[in-house]
Order: sequence, then structure tokens, then C-alpha cells
Amino acid sequence: MPRYPPNARRMSTMAPSATIELRSVTDPAPNTFPSRLPANGKRYFIWTIGCQMNEADSAKVAAMLQEVGYTRTEREDNADIVVLNSCVVRQAAEDKVSGKLNALMQLKRDRPQVPLVLTGCMVTKQQEQLRRRFPHVDLFFDPSDFDRLQEVVPELRDLDGDLAQLPHYYLPEAHASNGITAYIPIIYGCNFLCSYCIVPYRRGKERSRPMADLVREVEQVVAKGVREVTLLGQTVNAYGHDLPETVGLADLLRAVDAVPGLDRLRFLTSHPKYMSDEIIDTMATLPSVCEHMNLPVQAGDDEVLRRMRRTYSGAEWSERIAFTRDRMPNATIATDVIVGFPGETHAQFRNTHDLLAAVGCDKVHLAMYSPRPGTLSARWADDVPHVEKQRRHRVLEDLQERVCTERNAARLGGTVEVLVETSAKGRWSGRTRGNTLVHFADERDVLGKLVDVTVDVTGPWFLIGSPTGTPLR
Ligand code: SAM
Ligand code: SF4
Repeated sequence: MPRYPPNARRMSTMAPSATIELRSVTDPAPNTFPSRLPANGKRYFIWTIGCQMNEADSAKVAAMLQEVGYTRTEREDNADIVVLNSCVVRQAAEDKVSGKLNALMQLKRDRPQVPLVLTGCMVTKQQEQLRRRFPHVDLFFDPSDFDRLQEVVPELRDLDGDLAQLPHYYLPEAHASNGITAYIPIIYGCNFLCSYCIVPYRRGKERSRPMADLVREVEQVVAKGVREVTLLGQTVNAYGHDLPETVGLADLLRAVDAVPGLDRLRFLTSHPKYMSDEIIDTMATLPSVCEHMNLPVQAGDDEVLRRMRRTYSGAEWSERIAFTRDRMPNATIATDVIVGFPGETHAQFRNTHDLLAAVGCDKVHLAMYSPRPGTLSARWADDVPHVEKQRRHRVLEDLQERVCTERNAARLGGTVEVLVETSAKGRWSGRTRGNTLVHFADERDVLGKLVDVTVDVTGPWFLIGSPTGTPLR
């Protein structure tokens, strides 16, 4: 059974009964997943905070460890390796990571042989400062440098070749997936330099993954039963700009949509500058692509946008939304907004409020501005007081609650298609194509099924309904 690309090989720790067949990465995908090394009795614990990209990276680390015989544990005190995947996009996230690292000091005292590993955006290229702050951490590795895990997991040394380049589809568990939905990174890094954002400093320049690899990876997850795939990138719609062949996100959407058995396809996060007519038209025509767009605006005032270095105006952002709604009248829209950016006046905040009120998004990810050392805006006075940031946050939350209450109320009595992802307290939960959360009760086992649900109760953040009784899909 094929396991690794030609530049990779298995060595001495491989179980004698296991066989290896090397194949070119351009070969057709195998129909089944290769078996991994037998369990070695060791356990790994992974703690993840931050965006979906971090979830995807953690899944890759988990997959690598599983390949060499580790099993997952939910408890750090019985783990043989502890991996923390960090986020520093805002101070609050960074504080949580520091708190977690400090809490692990005792574990390290009790079980010094257990490697403690830190990855994610907290890890800088120069690591001296981190080493001084957290001397009990054995390894800091940059999220693009998975190879370094070998330093604390000797078994991985037996996998020759560059682990970072190892296509995810060779690693059966490498997708952040609950078996029903999966995240697949398609482009790493970011070429923008928004003045407030630390991501480009930690994730580097844009690197798109080859389209053939991605299609194969989708085929693999679908073969395992996954029904919905979300393609990930910090600027997902910049996909392909850096590849030798002339391909873009629209081409990738077409190729992935053609994978038999895939029911739903999403992508995030898009940058308004790259949200072309072609991408929107392609979304509208492909059956699997969900009518849902994630298009961060960050601010509704053009002067604030200019100082954020966002490269578009509020009017240009809303024109993209209008175009999307013209092509997909049912499209739902999600956006991100930062309140309390340096120098944001009351009038400028009001412009953000008014733009959001005029456009009416279905979901707004709100954040209070948090200065990030090393970014351009961190050199400017963080002059909107914390209480005022909180007030602006609340004002937009209230606006959003009103918009969503009204919008969802219009769905009362209607039917929505739900992909069921979880069950708890006697009810099933899942999402519509537009990404609305829906809860319902059903006697049948509907996990992983598409269920038509009549909407009986509506609220701003979710719907409650009952199955229509149409056959499960
Ligand atoms: N690439 C996406 C874009 O262009 O909007 C967003 C990626 S960023 C990691 C995720 C979100 O974190 C941003 O949309 C922004 O709202 C928020 N964020 C980033 N830096 C921030 C900061 N310094 N303070 C507050 N929120 C921030
Ligand atoms: Fe950060 Fe801007 Fe890049 Fe998004 S586009 S990751 S906000 S620098």
C-alpha cells in the first residue's frame, strides 16, 4: 500500500509485516488509506487555540504522531508528549497561551521526560526571548517547519524526507475533521501587511499548495465519509497567484466540486481585493459550493481602512456584497470588524455602524483592537480607552442581534437543509448551507446525514426545528 512520496521512506521501526510501495505524487489517489505503524503505547496531548488554520496544523501534527504509533489522550498528565498550538492575533489569546504554558510547569517538574512543544503564531524566528520566558519548553517550532518535531519524537526520524512537504493525503488523520466536515489549507501565509496584524510576520509569504494535491486530498477525505470541505487560507481567494501554472480559486472550486460524493464546499477567509467576479460567478454555478461568503471589512470608514492598510473602501466592499447577492440571492455574509483602532473617532465608528446596518451581514466576528508588537499600528497610540472599545463592541453586537433576529424570524415555518455534525442533550445540531446553526430532535440516528428541517423557533444565533420526514440523504 502506498505510504510516502518518492523522497520519503520507511526505515527500521516499521513493523516487519508492513509493506511499502513508493509512488509518484502524480499517481492516481489510492482508494483506501494505508495502515500506520502499530500502537507503541505512547500518547500525545494537543491543545489548540486560534483560527481554523491552527486546527488544521494540529491535525497534521496529530497525524504524524499517529503514523508512528502514538494514540491521542485528552489528559496532559498521562501524555508522553504535550503540544500547544498558539495564537497571538490578540493579547487575550496570547495571555491564554502564556497561562497554559505556566500551568504546565508543574507537569514538567513531575514528568521531566515528557517533551513540551510550542508551535503556532507565538513562535518567532528568533526564539531566545521565548526560551528565557518558558525554559521548561523543550521545542519551539514554526508552523511551516513540521520537520523539527523529530527533535523530540525520535520515531519521526525514521520518516526520511521533508515532513513539512509531505502531502496531507498521505496522513490519514491529517485533516481537522470530525469525520463529517474537514478543513483543508490551500494557501499558507499572507502577502498583505495590514497595519494591525501580526500574521504575516509569523506565517510568512503566500504559498499555494498544488491543485492536484488538493483535489486528491479532497478525494481522500470524501472517501472516508466527509461530506463538507472548507478550504482555508488567510487570503484564500489569493490562491494560485504564486503557482507556476495559471490557476486561481475559481479553477480550484471547479476541480473540487467535480469530486464525486462531496456535498458541500466552503472557503475562508477571503480578502475583498481578490474577490473577483469570476470567483463569485463560479460560486453561484457550482452545486456543492455553499451560498455563504466570508468577507472581512474590518472598518466602515475609509480613513480608518486606509490606516489599516486594507487597500479598499467601504463602498468597494459593499459593492462586492451586492454583486454576490445579485448572483446568489440567498447568500449569507460573514465579516470581521475591529473596533477601537488607533485614532478611531466617534464619527468614524458611526460610519462602521452605518455600513453594517446598511449591508446587514448574517455574522459579524467582532474584535476590540489589540496592539501587536512589531506591527505598524503598535507604534501609534492605542488611544481609544478600553471602556469605549467595550461600548463600541456592544453597540455592534446589539445591531447584529437585531439584524439576525429579524432575518431568522423570516425563516419561521420554512424548510432548511441541515448537515448534522453533533448531538448533545437529546438533540441534533448542524448547519445550513448558509452556515446557520440548527437544533432539532429526531428518533433516528442522523449523525452525518443531510436532514430537511421545518423551522419552529427562531432566535438571533440559531434555529430550532423538527424533521420534515423526507428521506435522509
Ligand atoms: N486574513 C483575514 C482578513 O484579511 O481579514 C483575517 C485574518 S486575522 C488572523 C483574523 C481576524 O483577527 C481579523 O479579521 C481581525 O478582525 C482580527 N485581528 C487581527 N489583528 C487584530 C488586532 N491587532 N486586534 C484586534 N483584532 C485583530
Ligand atoms: Fe492579517 Fe491583513 Fe493578512 Fe488578513 S490580510 S492575515 S488581516 S495581514
